[in-house]
Amino acid sequence: MDTLRDRWDEVQTRIAAACARAGRSESEVLLLAVTKVFPASVIEDAYALGMREFGENYVQEFEGKRPQLPPLAGARFHLIGHLQSNKSKKAAELFDVVQTVDSAKLARRLDECGKPMEVMIEVKLSEEEAKHGCDPAELPALVEAIRACPHLRLTGLMTMPPWDEDAERARPYFARLRELAAAHGLPRLSMGMSNDLEVAIAEGSTMVRVGTALFGRRKKP
Ligand SMILES: *Cc1c(COP(=O)(O)O)cnc(C)c1O
Repeated sequence: MDTLRDRWDEVQTRIAAACARAGRSESEVLLLAVTKVFPASVIEDAYALGMREFGENYVQEFEGKRPQLPPLAGARFHLIGHLQSNKSKKAAELFDVVQTVDSAKLARRLDECGKPMEVMIEVKLSEEEAKHGCDPAELPALVEAIRACPHLRLTGLMTMPPWDEDAERARPYFARLRELAAAHGLPRLSMGMSNDLEVAIAEGSTMVRVGTALFGRRKKP
């Protein structure tokens, strides 16, 4: 717990410093604690310290962890990994926010669950084959399709630049996401991770998704 508290302090200090440099208020940037691969007890520890927003990548993994958790008042769970439309019902049951909507079909499937949900669109800004996400050229149509879904509230965009040790290399991707969000009147930007959160905040991030810097290295699943 003490290590986690220290790491949390460190991450919050980094966020505060990045906000100060960018002339932004700290209250504009939410910290999403990414708990994928870690056991449910880690979520409980993080909650006990005061963390409230949690990110998980896999529906199936969180389906196993959710029943092990006590009621955590005020906690919100975000799906930040790719969602197959055949798992959308399960995802709607388990999560408060789905950040990775990338097709109209998936949006309609989520909407059909009838649960009021916050969603974001994952945008694919790099040419990497393995990456999911909506092509920027298809973004206007997807925004329109989601806005037509009565149960979904579209709040913003999310992206994951190609991995690079040099955080500065992520900057153009973050800037592009900010421009796309502004063009569609979307206030939220989910971008920035352990190694590049400062650059993301400088480019307007409103939510940084942090795993390693809080919980340490993940074992390969
Ligand atoms: C794992 C993951 C993160 C957290 O990455 P770290 O480098 O451990 O901070 C953030 N976003 C997504 C989509 C992830 O899959």
